[in-house]
Amino acid sequence: MASRFTKFCSIYVSSFRFSALSGTGAKRLTPQVLIRGLSTDSDIKYDRLVVEPITTPKPKPDVNSLVFGAEFTDHMLSVEWSADNGWDEPKITPYQNLSLAPSSSTLHYALECFEGLKAYRGDDNKLRLFRPMENMRRLNRSADRACLPGFDGEEFLKCLKHLISIDREWVPYSNKCSLYIRPTLIGTQPALGVNKSSTALLYVILSPVGPYFKTGTFSPVALLADPSFVRAWPGGCGDSKMGGNYGPTILAQRHAEMQGLQQVLWLYGEERQITEVGTMNIFMLWINENGEKELVTPPLNGMILPGITRKSLLELAKSWGEFKVTEKEFTMEDVIKASQDNRIKEMFGAGTACVVCPVNRILYEGQNIMIPTMENLEITKRFYEELTAIQYGRTPSSWSEIVD
Ligand SMILES: *Cc1c(COP(=O)(O)O)cnc(C)c1O
Repeated sequence: MASRFTKFCSIYVSSFRFSALSGTGAKRLTPQVLIRGLSTDSDIKYDRLVVEPITTPKPKPDVNSLVFGAEFTDHMLSVEWSADNGWDEPKITPYQNLSLAPSSSTLHYALECFEGLKAYRGDDNKLRLFRPMENMRRLNRSADRACLPGFDGEEFLKCLKHLISIDREWVPYSNKCSLYIRPTLIGTQPALGVNKSSTALLYVILSPVGPYFKTGTFSPVALLADPSFVRAWPGGCGDSKMGGNYGPTILAQRHAEMQGLQQVLWLYGEERQITEVGTMNIFMLWINENGEKELVTPPLNGMILPGITRKSLLELAKSWGEFKVTEKEFTMEDVIKASQDNRIKEMFGAGTACVVCPVNRILYEGQNIMIPTMENLEITKRFYEELTAIQYGRTPSSWSEIVD
């Protein structure tokens, strides 16, 4: 591992720089200043990674009682940005609170975007990421939408892999669990004007997570389809993973729970277009109006979050070549009609958290629409098995990247 040496050098260089900053005496030409002077590029650079390791590691949680996103690993990765100097050196430090001005733009106008991906421990004890460059590209697109700075995704991914490697013992020893990775980008400018932020912070925290389906088998979800809640609309930012999209959904989720349902089915417009389910993309396997077996999901029309699971399932289904695979808009009316004619086979949400999550019922305008996903469970199960086999390294695939 060359990283031990790099690590040592980085700490060395960094402490030089700190002494230069805190010193009150004459300016010294420190190695860091030299590097900066020579550098013409202010993007994120893995070469500049600085590691400040933890002194006392935290106890690891019991893998059988993990609660999603409740515990975090020993370290975090952060990179500061300013309009004047570009990206600073990436730093791995002990997991710690942030220090932000109360006026920071992220706290007032939700100048924030994030990502969600996982590291998986295979039976061969290797750690793998699933299509992580897709997350890097999506975070850059979300950053654009929030007028936050873009960055070199490949270099940042190298830093992220280094972080996971340092906290590798936190990746659960289980082929049902994983390490959830949360890259976050926030505007930190201490100013109340509704403006582009002139400073930003990109950071990553890691959280060990248990199985999505606790019983070990699929548990289906029942959905509330209430057109009075709208998640996204044309010209909005529903297709970006921006924090501002999620806070307002909590009330709708509570309405669903108060009616004994698990998730919200998001509808749009007079025609009650079906867009997403909870924080997942939606898929339906049905016999369409022409009598063909077809897998449908809404197209990326600006209201749909471009899920990496969504993209992967579409590619898998096309490679099977066993039925039609279509990205097209469909409505509550289509679902009601197809349900009456027994033409719906399976419906499921798709996302990193669960891979696929079967739907068994939709409550819409006081009416229960039963969906026979659990009775059929052909492709829902096959998607789950094929994708998890790739994620945990049982099936070799270019979608899977090893963390050394
Ligand atoms: C993150 C997310 C998804 C799923 O994306 P994946 O990349 O598959 O995890 C779907 N819908 C919404 C609204 C999301 O936030």
